[in-house]
Amino acid sequence: MMQAFFDSMLELVIRTSTELPPDVRTAMKTATGREVPGSSAAQAMAIIAENIDQASEDEGAICQDTGMPTFEFKVPIGANQIRMREQVHAAVAEATRRGKLRPNSVDSITGRNSGNNLGPGTPVVHFDQWERDDIEVRLILKGGGCENSNAQYALPVELPHLGRADRSLDGARKCILHAVWQAQGKGCSPGALGVCIGGDRASGYHRAKLQLFRSLDDVNPDPQLSALEAEVMATANTLGVGPMGFGGEVSLIGCKIGVANRLPASFFVSVAYDCWAFRRLGVIVDGTDGRIMEWLYRDPSRAPVPMVGPGGAGFTRTGREKTLVAPIDEATVRSLQVGEVVLISGRMYTGRDAVHAHLMTHDPPVDLQGAVLYHCGPVVLEEGGGWKVKAAGPTTSIREEPYQPDVIRKFGVRAVVGKGGMGAKTLAAMKEAGAVYLNAIGGAAQFYARTIERVAGVSLLEFGIPEAMWHLEVKDFPAIVTMDAQGNSLHRDVEQESGERLALLRG
Ligand code: SF4
Repeated sequence: MMQAFFDSMLELVIRTSTELPPDVRTAMKTATGREVPGSSAAQAMAIIAENIDQASEDEGAICQDTGMPTFEFKVPIGANQIRMREQVHAAVAEATRRGKLRPNSVDSITGRNSGNNLGPGTPVVHFDQWERDDIEVRLILKGGGCENSNAQYALPVELPHLGRADRSLDGARKCILHAVWQAQGKGCSPGALGVCIGGDRASGYHRAKLQLFRSLDDVNPDPQLSALEAEVMATANTLGVGPMGFGGEVSLIGCKIGVANRLPASFFVSVAYDCWAFRRLGVIVDGTDGRIMEWLYRDPSRAPVPMVGPGGAGFTRTGREKTLVAPIDEATVRSLQVGEVVLISGRMYTGRDAVHAHLMTHDPPVDLQGAVLYHCGPVVLEEGGGWKVKAAGPTTSIREEPYQPDVIRKFGVRAVVGKGGMGAKTLAAMKEAGAVYLNAIGGAAQFYARTIERVAGVSLLEFGIPEAMWHLEVKDFPAIVTMDAQGNSLHRDVEQESGERLALLRG
C-alpha cells in the first residue's frame, strides 16, 4: 500500500508542477484572444502560451517558483495520517531531486535552504476526515510572487481611490478590486482570486486559499456571492492592469468567494492572489492499495489541448527587436525606450534577495561593469559533471528596491531583468548612471530555460540554488523595456492610469 501511495503522491506533485489544469488553460486561451495583437500584453500572453505547452511536453516545471506545496486531504475514519504524511514528504523530496520542484524551504533565521523542500512547516499538509473508504488529495503550488500579493482587510477601512469600505458585500467588493489593483504585475497577472469574507485572520487566509480549489468555470451556489463574483470579474477587467502589469484587457481570470462566520468585533476580507501559473490538481486514491482511481480537474485520457495553434500563437519576432550583447555600453542603454523589445545574448548573472543583501557589504564575486543582472531563482540540477538549468523565469523585482540603486551606481550594472517593475529610487539611479529595466515574462520558466546555452559558472552557492549567482550564457533572451534611462516607467504609468479607473468603481 505505502509504495503505491508514494507513487501516487509523486505523480500528483509532478503533474501539478508541469501541467496546467484544463480550466486554467481555457481561461488563459480566452484571455489571450482578448489582447490587442502586437501589444506588449499580447506578446506576454504569447510567451506564456508557448511556455505552458513546453512545460507539459517536456514535463518541466511551468514556473521555476514551485511555491509552497499545500496538500488538502480527506481520509477515511481511522486512516493512519502519520504514515501518509511520511509518504507525502518522501514524494516531495523525490520530486525536488528530479528537478520538478525547486528547493524552496528556507530556515527563516539562518537563511539555510534544506535542499529538499522539507523543514518545519513545509510542505503544508492538512487532514480532514470523511465517511468514505477512499482518500482525496488536492495539491496547490502557489509561488512567492503571488503569495506576496495576498491581502487582508479589516473593515471598515479607507482604501486609496475607492474610499470607505464598510462591513457589507459592497465593502468586500471594494477590497477585492483594491487587491487586484495593488498587485499590478507583481503576482504575474492575469491572476485568479480566492476570497474569504469573515473568519479570523488565520482562518480567513486559509479559507481564501481553499477557494482556489474550485474550478474556474463553476458557479457559486450562493446567489449573492455568485453575483459578486461576476461583478468582480467584469469590473476588474476594466482596470487595465493587464498581463504582467503591462496594461491590457485581462487582469483577472477567476474570482471565487466564500464566507465564514466572524467575531462581532471583526470583519476581515482575505484575498489569496494566484498567478496565471495556477497549479492545482487532485486525485482520489484507493484506500486499500494506494493507487490513483481518479484525477480531479483533469481527464488523463485526453492530452492537454495545445495553447499555441488555432486561437493562440507563440512568441513571434516582428523584426523591430533590438539586440543587446552583454556587457553593454552606456550609449546603447541610453538609446533604449520603454515599449521596445530586446533580445539579450551573452552573459547574464542571476541575483535575488541574498545576493543583493550581500552586495551591500561585499564586492561582487564577478565584474558587474556593463552587466545584465537577472532577478531569477532558477531550478538547476547537477548533470554529467556540470550544471543544467531546468527552469528559469524572472522573480518579482520590487523586493530588491532597497538595494538596487546602490548596486547600479556602485558596480555599473547596465540592465536589470526581472518582472513587475521597480520603484522611484531605482528609476532615478537608472537615469543618473545609465541603466534600464527589462521586464521578462513572469512564470515563463521553460521558455527562458531554452534561451540558456550553458551555465558558465556559479558564485555564492552557499546561499542555496535559487539564491546563488549563476553565470548564464544566453542567446536571444526576449524582454520588454519597461523602465528606461530617460526616467520613463511603464509600471508607474499603468499604476496611475489603473488607479484612475479604479476610482470610477467607487459605487
Ligand atoms: S508565475 Fe509568477 S507569481 Fe506565479 S509562481 Fe511563477 S514567478 Fe511566482
